[in-house]
Amino acid sequence: MQPKIYESDYPEVFLPSMSIFHYLMPDGPGISPLPHFDPSLPCVIEAATGRTVSRGEMENTALRLGQGLRDAGMRRGDVVNLFAPNSIEFAFATWGTIAAGCTITPANVAYEPRELAHQVNDSGASFFFVAPSHLPVFERARALFKRPVPDSRIVLCCDVGPGARGSAPDKYRSLHELLGARAPAERFETEPMATAFMFYSSGTTGLPKGVETTHYNQTTQMQTAGAHIEQFTTQDRILAFLPMSHMYGAMMFLLIPLRFGCASVLLPQFEEIAVYKAIQEYKITVAPVVPPVLVLWASSPHLKKYDLSSLRSLLSAAAVLSPDVVRQLYKILPVPICDGYGMTETSPAIIVKDNRMSTPDRIGWMGRLLPSYQARLVCEDGTDAPVGTPGELWVRGPNVMKGYRGRTGDILPGGWFQTGDLLVMDKQGWFRIVDRVKELIKYKGLQVAPAELENVLLQHHHIVDAGVVGVEDEKQATELPRAYVVVDPKKAAELKTDRDRHRFAREIAEWAAKRTAQHKRLRGGVVITDVIPKSPSGKILRRLLRERAVTEWAS
Ligand code: ATP
Ligand code: MG
Repeated sequence: MQPKIYESDYPEVFLPSMSIFHYLMPDGPGISPLPHFDPSLPCVIEAATGRTVSRGEMENTALRLGQGLRDAGMRRGDVVNLFAPNSIEFAFATWGTIAAGCTITPANVAYEPRELAHQVNDSGASFFFVAPSHLPVFERARALFKRPVPDSRIVLCCDVGPGARGSAPDKYRSLHELLGARAPAERFETEPMATAFMFYSSGTTGLPKGVETTHYNQTTQMQTAGAHIEQFTTQDRILAFLPMSHMYGAMMFLLIPLRFGCASVLLPQFEEIAVYKAIQEYKITVAPVVPPVLVLWASSPHLKKYDLSSLRSLLSAAAVLSPDVVRQLYKILPVPICDGYGMTETSPAIIVKDNRMSTPDRIGWMGRLLPSYQARLVCEDGTDAPVGTPGELWVRGPNVMKGYRGRTGDILPGGWFQTGDLLVMDKQGWFRIVDRVKELIKYKGLQVAPAELENVLLQHHHIVDAGVVGVEDEKQATELPRAYVVVDPKKAAELKTDRDRHRFAREIAEWAAKRTAQHKRLRGGVVITDVIPKSPSGKILRRLLRERAVTEWAS
């Protein structure tokens, strides 16, 4: 039987085959399909200092840095590692690398030395931009690098301006030195199919994988997602605290501003009050966030103290967004939330909610397939899932990665990529996520999605966060869902003894049982805890919760 292939029902868009640099920063008219933007428009602003870089300056610096990298011996296809928090220099280092025709592989600033060394060894990086604040971790990782790195290939990507070096030893070069006194250099032609970015996936399900996305993947994503995520204008200011070392942050804060002539307002990390102040001070219009941030905002006593009226849209992606949180937050911050779904492997967006089409009954739905994608929903036995029932999402299209670094066979014949996520599509072509295939709990052969139970738990008025995993019950030869919950500070203070906590945990289990099907009961228990482990991109690290659950269950 022919497989059932869904096409996007958005109008087709033009898919340019060109390098990202030529697409975003063309050196003349008619090269890029984008409109001409005034070079004096700001493109990145540092929230703490107000330092602003215009499009023209970004382009000029990138070209000079690109020349600096070539002079240092870097050639087309060589890999450059970047280990720094969001900053203007992060943007310079990225665009400089792209201008040189090299591949940039930014690393998560929360990494321990062992994790950083994994990325460096796996990616084959041979040149390094490091923030002085991150030198100690970098140096410990350096001892684990498979190929020794000379000091001359380590450039300080400063936290505070290209000339500054903090207390970093003199042996490292500064970004300023790499820039030299060069005039803007010539542009290098880069093959559209060359790898531009090598982001590492979040490592939610195992070791992070080096995802190679090409210039073509990114320029076409700018066309497809760019047309529907938001109607950005040059007036927009984008809140940028999510890490740019992750594909979501890089797309929103590095690429989108150049694509639309708007600016991102950079913060080095999420800090609740600093974020409200930045929104107020810089009149932020669009805030890309992750669900844990919305969970916090929905019950925060501080949010109402700031003038956040400039916000016109919130974007949520990377993890499951609870409909209850959306409704709760809307009462205090009446701004539409556009849910988007994607992954590092797909550059990243696949499905987005176009706010022009969103109605209140679409809360909990992620939106429709972006232009140029084709999709299948496939059951465990390889057959197509009927409309309205879950299947694993397979996608193909110009935004699907070239492959994982050092691996083959992850793209199936015909160009299909298996996302590992279980989704449902309705008759109107709207999608919603059930959970990751790997994270489903099997209770006596029946599927239980942790994300669904977490959503139920979040509706309890004392629960502020929740994470659910399966524990193996050998006697019954089945998995049992077990919940970890964080309760609000007032309730937590009331629960003084272990007995109080156990009693309240039992109450929660009974409360949840009334709201779920029989097979979804929290038979593995409820545990009150202080924090649910999360990745910087807002994902529940169920892997860690599972390890904890296994130990607790065994004792
Ligand atoms: P790894 O592949 O290393 O295990 P990861 O899949 O978490 O890690 P990312 O590429 O950062 O790495 O995340 C993509 C995943 O995030 C998707 O496969 C999906 O499970 C989840 N995700 C993305 N957007 C959404 C969304 N809107 N709602 C729910 N889940 C989402
Ligand atoms: Mg993944």
